[in-house]
Amino acid sequence: MPINRDRLSNNLYELAKIGKIGETGVCRLAHSKEDRQAIQVVKGWMEEAGLITRIDEFGNLIGRLEGRDKEKPILIMGSHVDSQPYGGRFDGTAGALGAIEVIHTLTDDGIVPNRTIEVICFSDEEGCRFNKGVFGVRALTGMLEDGELDRKDKNGMTRRDALKEFGVEPDLSKSPVYQKGDVAAFLELHIEQGPVLEAQGKPVGIVSGISGPIWLTVTLEGFAGHAGSVPMNLRQDALVGASEIIRQYDDLVKRVGEDTTVGTVGSLQVFPNSRNIIAEKVEFTIDLRDIDLERRTSIEKQLYHIIEKTASAYNLTHKIKEDTRSGPRYCAEWIKEIMKEESDKLKLYSPVLMSGPFHDALFMSYMCDYGMIFVRCEKGISHNPLEFAEMNDIENGVQLLYQTALRISQSNEKE
Ligand SMILES: [Zn+2]
Repeated sequence: MPINRDRLSNNLYELAKIGKIGETGVCRLAHSKEDRQAIQVVKGWMEEAGLITRIDEFGNLIGRLEGRDKEKPILIMGSHVDSQPYGGRFDGTAGALGAIEVIHTLTDDGIVPNRTIEVICFSDEEGCRFNKGVFGVRALTGMLEDGELDRKDKNGMTRRDALKEFGVEPDLSKSPVYQKGDVAAFLELHIEQGPVLEAQGKPVGIVSGISGPIWLTVTLEGFAGHAGSVPMNLRQDALVGASEIIRQYDDLVKRVGEDTTVGTVGSLQVFPNSRNIIAEKVEFTIDLRDIDLERRTSIEKQLYHIIEKTASAYNLTHKIKEDTRSGPRYCAEWIKEIMKEESDKLKLYSPVLMSGPFHDALFMSYMCDYGMIFVRCEKGISHNPLEFAEMNDIENGVQLLYQTALRISQSNEKE
């Protein structure tokens, strides 16, 4: 059955009114008044769709539709409704409300799934308020770290107090709700937040995986000197060394020639940062992502070599600090296969592409098989009030989510 496009569209635009800033922006920071209001409204829509709802002690909103067979591992769908401080209307919401629309279409048609289906609006995906995100999904899967409730926002409020104000009593001592084996599959629909689908002229894509980043901080140290007096051949200029490394790193990653291999230096600090002093110390960041772990490792090795060679050529010392290392997480073949078949039936002929950004699905992937659907978004803009996705594209994506969910919920795969 086709999903109800008008209902989905109305709900999306209704939700965008909560925390609205300017004409098209939203601000619904995690656990805030606006976040709570949004969760309350979405909870109502879940109930209208036929889901039994609850809000857990970490602010996750969970809706449940009982299946015929209570013994079967369940299917979970979901995303988030919290936003960046200056965010858009579709990030997270398309997937959260899309999943509810899938359930509503099932119940409208009188379909009782074989396996139980849950829809989750995960709490604090964005992470901007407490500088650490994907909180709700990590709580549900037992991946919270000590001290997380003591993290403070910029006004000094702890997450614990923010959650209390939100209306829940956080408790780290309880064991996670889901264990391996409980869940057959997790499905998330999300706007692409990148330009690939637009460039290919495709409304919907099937995600191959989420590429984890390597984050490094590189420090180069030379010697400061007067810009007017030190001859060029005697200099130990850390900024020239850094420029050389950054340029070679860019070349190295570009030479791979894959859309899925990306390298960025987004931040650079120069000491003493004065126009007439040769730069003594430069610190810059490396962000390297690739869905292919072997290739990423090989690029990383070559990058280390570039850093060493350049530092020695410019007479600099160097230090490399590792900040984050997360491996790529691949979507399950069997789910991609179902998505491909259903996408062809819908004549969407969706291309397969990888996700550079994180999503709630990244953490669900440590507990169960997962699949993701991307919806084209204008110019790839996201985390910005200008973020935009066509209702037609969202409708197509949610229709594909519906058919995938129906197949998985009725199938005997993953008993
Ligand atoms: Zn998101």
